[in-house]
Amino acid sequence: MTQKHILVTGGAGFIGANFVKYFIEENENVTVINLDKLTYAGSLENLKDVHSERHIFVEGDICDRQLVENLFVKYDIRGVIHFAAESHVDNSITGPEAFMQTNVIGTFTLIDVARNYWMDAPNSYKSGYDTCRFHHVSTDEVYGTLGETGLFEETTPYAPNSPYSASKASSDFVVRSYFHTYGMDVVTTNCSNNYGPKQHDEKLIPTILRKALQGEQIPIYGDGLNIRDWLYVLDHCKGIALAYETGKSGETYNIGGRNEKTNLYIVNSICSYLDEKYTRKDNSSYKELITFVKDRPGHDFRYAIDASKIEDELGWKADENFESGIVKTIEWYIEKYKDTGILQ
Ligand code: NAD
Repeated sequence: MTQKHILVTGGAGFIGANFVKYFIEENENVTVINLDKLTYAGSLENLKDVHSERHIFVEGDICDRQLVENLFVKYDIRGVIHFAAESHVDNSITGPEAFMQTNVIGTFTLIDVARNYWMDAPNSYKSGYDTCRFHHVSTDEVYGTLGETGLFEETTPYAPNSPYSASKASSDFVVRSYFHTYGMDVVTTNCSNNYGPKQHDEKLIPTILRKALQGEQIPIYGDGLNIRDWLYVLDHCKGIALAYETGKSGETYNIGGRNEKTNLYIVNSICSYLDEKYTRKDNSSYKELITFVKDRPGHDFRYAIDASKIEDELGWKADENFESGIVKTIEWYIEKYKDTGILQ
């Protein structure tokens, strides 16, 4: 079968690795060139369940223009799905520079190389390249924070509050400008908080699980009442694939699971599940380990997505709700921690 080569960036990270596996299995005629710098957040472990000749891993930086240009020529790249980013808000507070570099300059470098490779002038694709698309994976954090009510829609004005969300908002605008200025075929998806297998240990749900299973204090910011809209990672991957394949050029699509939960609800439900299935030796509840710690500076209160556009226009729907997705997630981490010796 004739193979179409697409470039996936950040495919050794949490969402990218889940996506690469899903996308390769779903598309027999696609070969994925997976470009990842393998920062602390990326790991080849995340790709050990991808067994396909249609997956080619390249270690490298999206900011390295020469490397990116070489990959476009070598593999005749016909599409880009761009995940690579610095993604942890806490790290953006202590070290914002890497976020500006990778998220802003890296996105610019990629899309600019793609434009040069696919197009010969504004609004003019080279012959045979007119179906090449640049898909930008972004976050709902670009919209800032919500009060008790309301939802983020695609038309909600951008109001990023952290260096992370500011860098992602900037990258969204770079991508938008390539549609309006050059007539490039671009799509952006803005998603809410993901959870599921392969997430880095530093994030909330893996931290809760690891600390609980090790019998250590489980740190929760502030009063634990901040609200996030949680989406199982595979549902996000399906939404990205759908928008990449059928989304309208120049459009943005919000993806979210309609699963608004406080951090306290998350930690309590994980502890309840563990209490039942992995009862502690002294019969005490894992909930006794919950400890409130000083809040993150500038901590956004609430994020919640209105996903009607992708649901109504493209027919996307989340398959998991929080209750079903969290069980799969907990069991996956239990296996991982058994393998790494954290859990006996
Ligand atoms: P992650 O931190 O787990 O993975 C990021 C990956 O990008 C890593 O493998 C890392 O090595 C790679 N990378 C970083 N800098 C690079 C560079 N300069 N060149 C090449 N590779 C580089 O992140 P994630 O949670 O999988 O997020 C993926 C994308 O989805 C990001 O763009 C993020 O903004 C977006 N997003 C994430 C969430 C979420 O809840 N995790 C929600 C919405 C949107």
